[in-house]
Amino acid sequence: MAVKQILTEPNKVLRQISKPVDKVTKQDQILMDDMLDTMYHANGIGLAAIQIGIPKRIIVMDIAKKDEKKNPMYFVNPIIKNKNNDLSTYEEGCLSVPDQFAEVDRPSTCEVEYLDYNGEKKILKATGLLATCIQHEMDHLEGILFIDHLSKLKKSMIIKKLSKQKKSSEAVII
Ligand code: ZN
Repeated sequence: MAVKQILTEPNKVLRQISKPVDKVTKQDQILMDDMLDTMYHANGIGLAAIQIGIPKRIIVMDIAKKDEKKNPMYFVNPIIKNKNNDLSTYEEGCLSVPDQFAEVDRPSTCEVEYLDYNGEKKILKATGLLATCIQHEMDHLEGILFIDHLSKLKKSMIIKKLSKQKKSSEAVII
């Protein structure tokens, strides 16, 4: 297991569309282990493979609270089967959009078909934070970030801030 570097916006790689996995292999399981380590290390509740630069349709999540037992979830090739027309609003953040938060509306419930860690087909009926989180992560597979759901003005303000942060962190201090 290893902690990988998380890519941050602006970065073209994050805008790629990830490719489906033919069959869950040992290599994919190692990737999922690394993704989970990386996510826990960064105090996140979800991570898509593209966020560490791997364009595969793989997501890991754990929405257990800090005082609860860890509850890792793995989703390979997730597809949304049904979603509610009712929306719910959560303040979202993203490990690839550091220190930025904004309210996003998404369907309040959804049904997701996917392969689990062992390659078995599963269906998840998600509500609440789980529904929001899985939809946020599935957006990453299409190269979409939560800031794409915001107004143009809000989005450009956030990207400006992120570009500035990047420049200063890359600067050589002499
Ligand atoms: Zn994210």
